[in-house]
Amino acid sequence: MSASQPVPVSGKGGRPARLLTQNREMRQIGVWNWSLPAWAGRLPDGRTYNTCPSAGVCAQACYALTGTYMWPVVRAKHQGNLMFVLDDLPGWEAAMVAELGAAKFHGGWIRIHDAGDFFSDAYLLAWLRICRARPDVNFYAYTKEVARFRRLVEPDPPENMLWVYSYGGTQDAALDPAVDRVADVFPDDDAIAAAGWASQEASDLLAVLGPRLVGVPANRIPGHLKRLSGRRFSEWQAEVDADHAARRDRRHLRVAADNTRDTVEPGTTRRAPAPIDQPRAA
Ligand code: SF4
Repeated sequence: MSASQPVPVSGKGGRPARLLTQNREMRQIGVWNWSLPAWAGRLPDGRTYNTCPSAGVCAQACYALTGTYMWPVVRAKHQGNLMFVLDDLPGWEAAMVAELGAAKFHGGWIRIHDAGDFFSDAYLLAWLRICRARPDVNFYAYTKEVARFRRLVEPDPPENMLWVYSYGGTQDAALDPAVDRVADVFPDDDAIAAAGWASQEASDLLAVLGPRLVGVPANRIPGHLKRLSGRRFSEWQAEVDADHAARRDRRHLRVAADNTRDTVEPGTTRRAPAPIDQPRAA
């Protein structure tokens, strides 16, 4: 996916003049984008942010941390969007609802987040209100905020909002591909077909309108492909999670060993430790 076209960075009061943008690829399928800066960074005023708090391995091969997304005008636009949200969430929500009232959006689709994710409850709840305020517009999103969606969206989703959970995040283990609509990044289209998943390459809308198991071919960025090294994001993330779990276990064992090492007072004899029920490491 490519970055949104450069647009005026600021309008009245330093706020973005337009919130929704469209690149050539999205214009062909009638989709408009809302975007934040991807992942973590620092705003011009010095504040730090993380718009993808559940990003995992995806951040090491993030399409939105390369190429046109890094152009100063594009980056400034996305950071301006984020500052509007952070500094005046009600004002941003009202501006989004107003902009979506334009006739060109009726019956169209909005992709929530060309980059970034639903980074807080308040921000996600604002989007749910926006969807309900504009029932004649369709919305969709990829997200790694699994727990937040399970809690705030799944019980009562807006009828005009669709989403797909995407692999490569710290909450991958909470996904069930037998039930959830899920997207995974594969090395290429052949790997998608071999796995029996459906590629969304022909239209990004297939991520929410096509078959439930969504394959996304990796961007042909040499450094990203090298890191991916033939794996799917889900496989890469599972390896990282297993490695973290093994390190955690080793740390716990070390702490447990330290705690069970009894001290021997001078002039006393060491007693045999009491039997314990806990399983021991091999
Ligand atoms: S969640 Fe998406 S935008 Fe955020 S770091 Fe991962 S790939 Fe990039």
